[in-house]
Amino acid sequence: MSFNETHIRVGAYLQSIGSMMYETFLQENPKAKMWASVNQDGFIPRYGQQYFRWVPCVNQEDYLAYIEKIIKYAIEYVKTDLIHFDNFILWPEPYSCHCPVCREKFRQYLKDKYPTPEARKERFGFINLDFIEPPVFDLFNPPWALDVIRDPVLQEWIDFRVKSLSNAYMRFSNYVRNLNPNVAVAVNLNPPPGGNSAFLRGGWPPLLYPHGDVHWTEEPDHPRIGEDGRLISRIQTFKIAQATGNAVFCYVRGENSDSSKLMMAESMAYNSYVLGMIGGVPPIVDQYMEQYISFYKKNKEYFVNTESAAEVAVLRSYASLSYNNYSTHLSVILFEQTLIQARMPFDVIFDDHLKDLSKYKVLVLANVESLSNEQLDLIRDYVKAGGGLVATDETSAYDQWRRRRPSYGLADIFGIDPAKAPCEKTVRSVYGKGRVVYIPKIIPSVEPRDDVDGRWRMRYRIIDNRYWHLPKNWKELVDAVEWTGQDLSLKVEAPLTVTAEFRRQEQPSRLLIHLINYNLKNQVDYINVTLREPKGKRVETIAILSPDDDAEKEEKIPFIAQKGEVKFRIPKLKIYAISVIELR
Ligand SMILES: [Zn+2]
Repeated sequence: MSFNETHIRVGAYLQSIGSMMYETFLQENPKAKMWASVNQDGFIPRYGQQYFRWVPCVNQEDYLAYIEKIIKYAIEYVKTDLIHFDNFILWPEPYSCHCPVCREKFRQYLKDKYPTPEARKERFGFINLDFIEPPVFDLFNPPWALDVIRDPVLQEWIDFRVKSLSNAYMRFSNYVRNLNPNVAVAVNLNPPPGGNSAFLRGGWPPLLYPHGDVHWTEEPDHPRIGEDGRLISRIQTFKIAQATGNAVFCYVRGENSDSSKLMMAESMAYNSYVLGMIGGVPPIVDQYMEQYISFYKKNKEYFVNTESAAEVAVLRSYASLSYNNYSTHLSVILFEQTLIQARMPFDVIFDDHLKDLSKYKVLVLANVESLSNEQLDLIRDYVKAGGGLVATDETSAYDQWRRRRPSYGLADIFGIDPAKAPCEKTVRSVYGKGRVVYIPKIIPSVEPRDDVDGRWRMRYRIIDNRYWHLPKNWKELVDAVEWTGQDLSLKVEAPLTVTAEFRRQEQPSRLLIHLINYNLKNQVDYINVTLREPKGKRVETIAILSPDDDAEKEEKIPFIAQKGEVKFRIPKLKIYAISVIELR
């Protein structure tokens, strides 16, 4: 009997771009030697300590065609339901591939992208691109010493690598779907939260993830309260997945039952369609985890076919996060951390989303330093029409190539130009129908300093969870979002260790408020919720469901409705609860 007859779904695991085991692979296919990547020094990069795994080149046509043969085998012979592309990354400098194919393709990419002499002159200062080479690094110019990336060729090299990786994933994914559209496609880019994923992984989520259905996270940010009180979560990863139409495969086996529950709670609140990897290797599921699993199954209708009801959008912009290895990442991480802990539901958005911001009351630009003129116009139009804007630090100080602008691009709507005179205080202004707050700096509580600053730093700087403390001026950020938002729909009064996710369903018409208590030591009693009723709708009933109660029963609770606002109180929150608000 095959797996397929048992109705157990089967997934196939593929390395593809990840690595090739040359000891056996070369016996099968001597040509594979040509498919390995070679770095600037002619060295074949290996998979870390596993020197017997070569890193392949993403631009070798014969290798990509070979992978397609494997995909075909997995679909037609194994009859897999899912194909997972593991380690789908390009290695960071100084291990980028400099093989003749990559070098030639890079030059062709530049010629196509800048077809006219004028465009080439503006970008590089010269017209003939035949002699451009990928950037190289050495002891005196280590890649991890770059806090910002100004060099046009290096910027283009990053773009080229991102495009090469996305193209390979798109190609494989299309190939899978042509053979069988019911086979799901998963990928593991595993970008470091708080790190420059374009530079370090060759991947930019909105260009990669939408080609597939699911991606993995293996980040070490298992939800918990750190010993110093900081809240660690994978919420930012889940938000990125939402913005790219993906679900996330994640581990949900913690150190003990409660931490496993917390991990599953995160999935229920922030992930789509996936509870996570139950158990581990070997799979062990205790009765407490079973309680959560059965709750998830029983109430599945609240976890699928939902959409975000967030009214705040945080822009993660390509140029600002790919041509900067430090300050822009710190700012966006700290702003998102503030929104998470202040329970202000938000969506992560990417550059393309700027074209339609109509569903948001507030756009957050946390040190989005590099914006094109077109992007500035979109933002200006949004505010003019009544959208709120909160901008911080060097937002709009540079253009999309990170060339400094003589004036901040959004100086006219900030009501101040920090390029002309130093700005130390927060500025509030009104532009058209919208409100604007400019905050000169998000002040970290813990400045990332453990890496020796300067040219001799020995590794890449990443704003990892050691630095996810609320910034010193977090209340100022919250006030700014509230003021520019003018009547945000949801207010949840709870400790800073409780998070809230706000979602809606159309049929039947419902609002869903997920609450998670990250502080496993203390149950939270009495959480007051104020909710603005959506236009043209009234709240009919409110029920609280939680897997922490043995009864697993749906508890209808009283509420007060007044002037389009509804107030209710959640009696207790141990780890996870969902409020189901039926509308009519
Ligand atoms: Zn190559």
